[in-house]
Amino acid sequence: MTAAALARLVAPSGVQITLVESEAIGTVGVGESTLPHIRAFNERLGIDEAAFMKATRATFKLGIQFENWGQIGGSYIHPFGDYGAPGGEAPFHHYWLRGRELGDVGPIDDYSLPVVAAREGRFAPPSDDPRSLLSTYRYAYQFDATLYARFLRGMAETEGVRRIEGRIQNVAQDGESGAITKVTLDDGRQIEGDLFVDCSGFRALLIEQTLKAGFTDWSHWLPCDRAVALPCESDQPTVPYTRATALEAGWQFRIPLQHRVGNGYVYSSAFIDDAAALDRLVGRLEGKPLKAPNVLKFTAGQRTRNWAANCVSVGLSSGFIEPLESTSIYLIQIAITKLIELWPTAVIDPATEAEFNRQMDLEYVRIRDFIILHYCATARNDTPFWDYVRTMPLPDTLSEKIELFRARGIVQDYREGLFLHPSWVAVYLGQDILPRRHHPLVDAVSATQLMSSLERLRRMVREASYKLPSQDDYIARYCAHLPL
Ligand SMILES: Cc1cc2nc3c(=O)[nH]c(=O)nc-3n(C[C@H](O)[C@H](O)[C@H](O)COP(=O)(O)OP(=O)(O)OC[C@H]3O[C@@H](n4cnc5c(N)ncnc54)[C@H](O)[C@@H]3O)c2cc1C
Repeated sequence: MTAAALARLVAPSGVQITLVESEAIGTVGVGESTLPHIRAFNERLGIDEAAFMKATRATFKLGIQFENWGQIGGSYIHPFGDYGAPGGEAPFHHYWLRGRELGDVGPIDDYSLPVVAAREGRFAPPSDDPRSLLSTYRYAYQFDATLYARFLRGMAETEGVRRIEGRIQNVAQDGESGAITKVTLDDGRQIEGDLFVDCSGFRALLIEQTLKAGFTDWSHWLPCDRAVALPCESDQPTVPYTRATALEAGWQFRIPLQHRVGNGYVYSSAFIDDAAALDRLVGRLEGKPLKAPNVLKFTAGQRTRNWAANCVSVGLSSGFIEPLESTSIYLIQIAITKLIELWPTAVIDPATEAEFNRQMDLEYVRIRDFIILHYCATARNDTPFWDYVRTMPLPDTLSEKIELFRARGIVQDYREGLFLHPSWVAVYLGQDILPRRHHPLVDAVSATQLMSSLERLRRMVREASYKLPSQDDYIARYCAHLPL
């Protein structure tokens, strides 16, 4: 992603880009579920959507379904879109909250077109008309990450990136400034550079092994530190959502692609051992496994400085927050975007580094808090893992947000950062954090008018969803992958 973006957006100004990769080391090989922002990234690179979806066996994604999180048996979808129809003086959930006080209005999910369409396996692209219900959602993709990397590598090479196959063995630094001057490969080749982007994954070869940028450990809030991934066959229709099912010591992901389903159990090794986690995952597969299981170890947290000297970390080298809300590829994209916005001159001034780090810290911390919310907002007390996360002390930044929502139904607003209003509402309400009071502005509507509007809206959402094609039909017409 970095090489392709820099080739397209920075190279025209006279910058030469070299990509060093090692097929012997390979990539982490997981990471298949994305957020809607990736569409802007692809568009900026001039990628044709249908061609990209064919090449990566992609499906559409309207949200994430959470099973058994707030309580066993609980289920909700965090949609990529709004609740309610466009308009209204207060956010829609306040109207819904007042409706609940007056009578049976059903779950808030019934008022979200992306949720209803996702549950029914339907998909069509949103409308541009802001008055239409069909404009109330966005979408992302579920794709084969290895194929996406191959697709982008092809693009980057076409755009003039020099790709070198080889394993970096040594990293040289300037004796005075500490800046990286060159890397040496195992066959002795040397590659010099002015700016180095560390995309070496969990190894963090340049940013940590060389520059010792530090790591802020968040595992006391996010105790999952392992994952076992195992793709399998499926004969089910593809659904336009990723599923995250809470299990006894973590959670399982299910990501439906055109040709297979990606599965994994993300767990805490303090509460379950590797063999038991693998057994649990295998026991829950819907079809024949397609590979040997891939066990990954990690620590939740962030590189203390994402940019240090003349090195910028992008991807897993910059930190890791478990993939519960599919945020890692987004963090790659945002790091690339910020790097391009702050593209340095020949002399890298400390202010640039500080600004990049400030912006990345905000992104990371906000994602961290949002992920912790999924664990702490629970009534589950069935295993020691759930007892731990339910009762752990929270970061102040998150406690304040939860208290404001519990008291007033108000979502703390911020300008920079990923998850906006509807996402927080989805998880709060989906995991049973119910505000004590609705917003007073909604009292302007009479009780009768409110109840009939809610009923009409619910019907409109049902009807709008019913008119959409099934995702499988849409894919078959638009972007079915060609036989290999
Ligand atoms: C279980 C799991 C599930 C995930 N699911 C999602 C998801 O659904 N959505 C999402 O957005 N993200 C997800 N992620 C994160 C996602 O997989 C990564 O963000 C993404 O794959 C990018 O990884 P990377 O490029 O930083 O590292 P890697 O894939 O590890 O790539 C590192 C690269 O550096 C090269 N390299 C390393 N050392 C050397 C060396 N010495 N010399 C030369 N080259 C070297 C390697 O060859 C490789 O090309 C998941 C992660 C895990 C662990």
